[in-house]
Amino acid sequence: MKVAVVKETAPGERRVALVPEAVAKLRAAGHEVVVETGAGDGAWLSDGAFTEAGAGIVAGDELAAGADVIVTVGRPGEPVMGGLRSGQVLLGMLAPLTEPDYAQRLAETGVTAVSLDLIPRTLPRAQAMDALSSQANIAGYKAAVMAADSFGRFFPLLITAAGTARPARVLILGTGVAGLQAIGTTRRLGAVVSAYDVRPETKTEVQSLGASFIELTSVGPASGEGGYARALTEEERQAQQDELAGHIARHDVVITTAQVPGRRPPLLVTGDALKSMTAGSVVVDMGASALGGNVEGSQPGETTVTENGVTVIGASNLPSRMPAAASSMYARNVSALLLYMVKDGALAVDLSDELQRGVVITYEGRVVHPALAEAAGGTDHVDGAAH
Ligand code: NAD
Repeated sequence: MKVAVVKETAPGERRVALVPEAVAKLRAAGHEVVVETGAGDGAWLSDGAFTEAGAGIVAGDELAAGADVIVTVGRPGEPVMGGLRSGQVLLGMLAPLTEPDYAQRLAETGVTAVSLDLIPRTLPRAQAMDALSSQANIAGYKAAVMAADSFGRFFPLLITAAGTARPARVLILGTGVAGLQAIGTTRRLGAVVSAYDVRPETKTEVQSLGASFIELTSVGPASGEGGYARALTEEERQAQQDELAGHIARHDVVITTAQVPGRRPPLLVTGDALKSMTAGSVVVDMGASALGGNVEGSQPGETTVTENGVTVIGASNLPSRMPAAASSMYARNVSALLLYMVKDGALAVDLSDELQRGVVITYEGRVVHPALAEAAGGTDHVDGAAH
């Protein structure tokens, strides 16, 4: 099997889908790997490092020719899309649920599209392939470090001859994979950390990391399917925002990580809540997106300061800001899935397997993933939802 590694084209994307260590692993399993010139540059991985691991280096326009599998981090750019041919496999975080037409386009090329972001995460055998978790872990860490960097005071309690600094009070909203990592990181920096999630089952995980769990009296549990949260009703949203505002005002740093699958991120920190914070406070919105994030007015990739002196960081693609670690972990996810799907030296799709049914979105010219049919028919997915 010949695996081709694309140079990412999305603006600001610095990750690469395979690192030399993963190339060597695939080579040891008997597969050929070709890497587009400069694909690893953003993650400080030279063409030479890939060659040493046994990969061939090719120009972009030669990449897809002869490749059985094309691996990417995000959606490939037009040159790769245009060159796809029937029977080839495209594997990456293709985010098909945010745009069902994209899957249809892929189906029309005849390509077998495999989307790592749809991996059934609760299957024990899928854990090594769980790119959402590996990248969320990195994002949670980076969000915490960025918050500390923008905060004009110490995170830890410091007692010095020049005075005593009290520890920073940090609030983490949303305690999934990223939120738990943000708790761990801010705790290691010495902050006093509180956290909240609509899924009450996260309380013990939060407490085991040394943070206190905030329970709201006005909003009940909102655990949905598969370990995710369900969307709140309009009344619940309002009550949550109002009650959270009181907690937000008492914190120096707020990091928001809340997501609901297939929907816009819920708005947790309103403009009024931002106004209630003291000057010098920092808010990092990991949900920041063009459609709106967890924090009112946050813009992805932009840092703004409110009139009352609160720094609001609209985080965007945090894993790409740690490209070496993120590529290395992502490459392990990719190679684990590739090797899982290989039978007799070639990638063989088996839709009777629950794991493969979860990740294969197009096969033999058709969109085969059930959730895509649902998303296409629904009215409240990312494109149609309102806060
Ligand atoms: P996510 O990115 O979908 O959401 C982040 C967090 O935001 C979640 O904890 C969610 O409950 C919370 N949230 C959503 N709406 C909210 C609101 N209005 N207010 C406050 N919080 C809100 O979540 P994730 O990090 O991808 O993890 C989702 C689940 O998947 C977790 O239960 C995690 O343990 C589970 N998981 C399981 C495995 C496994 O079994 N191997 C692997 C990875 C993740």
